[in-house]
Amino acid sequence: MSDSAEIAIVGAGITGLATAHALTRDGHRGVAVFDRSWPGSGDSGRSFSMVRRHYSNAVTARLAMAGSQTIADWENEVGVADAGYVRCGYLLTVPERLEAACRDNVARLQRIGLDTHFLEPDEIGSVEPELSIEGVAGAAYEPDGGFADAQKMCLGWFAAASSRGLRHELGCAVRALRVKDGRVTGVETDRGFTPAGTVVLATGAWTNDLLRPIGAEQPIELRRLQVVIGRREPGAPLPSAVCSDGVSNVVVRPDRGRRFCAVAYAGEDPLDRADDCDHAASAGYAEVVRKAVAGRYPRLGEFAVERGWAGPYDITPDWNPIMGPCPGVDGLYLAVGWSGHGFKLSPAVGEVVAAEVVGRMPPVDVSELRPGRFAAGRLLRLAYGPGARA
Ligand SMILES: Cc1cc2nc3c(=O)[nH]c(=O)nc-3n(C[C@H](O)[C@H](O)[C@H](O)COP(=O)(O)OP(=O)(O)OC[C@H]3O[C@@H](n4cnc5c(N)ncnc54)[C@H](O)[C@@H]3O)c2cc1C
Repeated sequence: MSDSAEIAIVGAGITGLATAHALTRDGHRGVAVFDRSWPGSGDSGRSFSMVRRHYSNAVTARLAMAGSQTIADWENEVGVADAGYVRCGYLLTVPERLEAACRDNVARLQRIGLDTHFLEPDEIGSVEPELSIEGVAGAAYEPDGGFADAQKMCLGWFAAASSRGLRHELGCAVRALRVKDGRVTGVETDRGFTPAGTVVLATGAWTNDLLRPIGAEQPIELRRLQVVIGRREPGAPLPSAVCSDGVSNVVVRPDRGRRFCAVAYAGEDPLDRADDCDHAASAGYAEVVRKAVAGRYPRLGEFAVERGWAGPYDITPDWNPIMGPCPGVDGLYLAVGWSGHGFKLSPAVGEVVAAEVVGRMPPVDVSELRPGRFAAGRLLRLAYGPGARA
């Protein structure tokens, strides 16, 4: 394989494909995407796919707001397939110790234009009647929150970009980044070398496997996160809204039919490498989820476990992504370190990366997310402490 690419994107997940779509839509030719497997085969196909904008800092909230807008208006903005968006509302319930932080976050987000407000405990039932308010001091509420389908989005972007000339090399691993005199010159793949002017790394949890050999490793820690899909009997109550319970750390969302999805955060297993992640849910995890769900949703504890899975979270020191040119390697752009937020940010991330790699002004200023911030001690604010919550 010797055909050169102007822009080589490594990773056909939601980040790489959003970028490929934005570039090809804007008329750029010579864009190639490489994936060792198929579109959405990484974390994107395993996402909980929650849509919300509640973040502790304006930059991530703005990416989430712009990203959610595309997810909701997929037909007009992408036009191929649909994003599977279900607008059912999003709640973040908090205990008393986090109430002031939550009220403050809601006020900050309102100031940048988000439709959100703080619900008192006795108002929560109007959004989620099944939720117990024991230990809950209130909730941040977004009426436009909900969930979508990351796999559909990947395939929609892939089809749209392919129809506009995206070159795709699927089932083709990038073995190494070739760097000469401090500049990336292309990618070494299973099918040979492809010279490239610019390389975008959208490799999620696998990122450091390619950066370590060129001495550009990023501070990304990996942990295994699990999801369970429960199915209820006909007539049994179901959740109505997406809820991230900041009291017990259970996260629940409705799904199609009689199903719902749940995660019970409980000290996720660290991983040395993303390939070490066992993608099947662990024996016993469903019971952990059942207990957590029953504690917050007293009428939902009885359910059949339809399926479960696990994927690697790629976590940065401030639980916010890394976006920008790789220090010390000209021509290499990083869009990695999603820390559990990559799904809902992805449409906006694709627009930003596409703009930055061709030297245009991005629609959202992501300078606070540059890789250099860790070494410079400019970590982003987390209103609730370390974690994917905000
Ligand atoms: C269980 C779980 C639940 C989640 N829930 C949410 C949620 O509710 N909301 C949210 O916003 N985010 C969520 N996330 C995070 C979100 O799924 C990820 O941030 C997002 O999917 C990252 O997308 P990506 O395209 O950057 O990476 P990925 O989807 O992981 O794609 C990376 C791609 O790169 C390819 N690749 C890697 N190395 C190479 C190589 N050397 N050569 C060629 N190809 C390579 C892989 O095959 C893969 O297809 C969740 C994650 C998990 C695991």
